[in-house]
Amino acid sequence: MEAYLYESLEDGKVKCNLCSHRCVIKAGRRGKCSVRENQAGTLHTLVYEKVIARHVDPIEKKPLFHFLPGTLSYSVATVGCNFRCKFCQNADIAQMPVDHQGAIMGDTVTPDEVVAAAEKSGCRSIAYTYTEPTIFFEYANDTAEQARRHGLANLLVASGAEVGVALHSGTYASVYGPAYETKAEIGMLRRAGCDAVGMSTAPETVLLSRLGVKPVGLSCITNPSRETGQPELSHAEVVEVGGMVRERLAKLLLAFLPRLAAQMAAGPSA
Ligand code: SF4
Repeated sequence: MEAYLYESLEDGKVKCNLCSHRCVIKAGRRGKCSVRENQAGTLHTLVYEKVIARHVDPIEKKPLFHFLPGTLSYSVATVGCNFRCKFCQNADIAQMPVDHQGAIMGDTVTPDEVVAAAEKSGCRSIAYTYTEPTIFFEYANDTAEQARRHGLANLLVASGAEVGVALHSGTYASVYGPAYETKAEIGMLRRAGCDAVGMSTAPETVLLSRLGVKPVGLSCITNPSRETGQPELSHAEVVEVGGMVRERLAKLLLAFLPRLAAQMAAGPSA
C-alpha cells in the first residue's frame, strides 16, 4: 500500500515525513523503521494488515486508569519500530525486520476483522500498541475509522520521545482561576481520581464537546501539587516553566499536526 506523508525527491528518492527521523530513502531501500520502502519512487508501507500480535488486555495495562476503567481493550501491533531499544519488552517483534534480514512477518488481518474481533471479545476499545504505532500509521488509521463507526474507542500508545517530550495519560480537572487551587481543592480532586489540575483546557473541552466538536487538548504540567511535599513554586516560577516548555510544545505540535491532517484527509469520520 502506498504510504501517507512522504514527498518525492530527485533521482527517485523519497522523503518520509511520518516520524522525526525524516528518512530520505533511495529507490529499493527502506527507512530506519525497516517497514517503509521506496519502490521505484513511491513509498510503500510493508505492514498494512500484517498483524504480529493481538491480545485482549485490561485497559489498565495500556496504561489508562480513568478512561473506560475496568473494560477490555483489543490490542494490535505490526513488526517494526523507529527506535532501536534492545531492552524493550517487545524488542523481539519491534526489531524483527532488522534482526531477520528485513522479513515482514504477521497474519493478514483487515481493519474490519480487527473491529469484529474486538466486538466479539467484548472490548470497548482498540489499542495500537506493543511496538511504536507511528510506523503502522496507515493501518491504525483505517482500523480506527472502522472502530469509531462501531462505537469503539481508539487508543494510540505512542511515544513522545521521538520529539523529546515525555507524555503522560491521566485525568485532568480545572478549577476557576485566577487564583491557584487551594490545598483543600487539590485534596478533593485527588480523592475524585484526578491526576492534574489547571485553570483551562477542561472548560473548553466541555464546551466543544457540547457543540459536537471533537477536541484535542495539550497541557504542560508546570508544577507539582502542594500535596507532594515538593517546594511550592511562585507565580513567576510557574510562568518561567511555561516559557521553558514552549519549544518542546512546538516540536510536539509539528510532529502531531501532519498526522492529524493526514487522518482528516483520509475520511470524513476521522
Ligand atoms: S516512519 Fe520509518 S521511514 Fe518514515 S521517517 Fe520514521 S523511521 Fe524513517
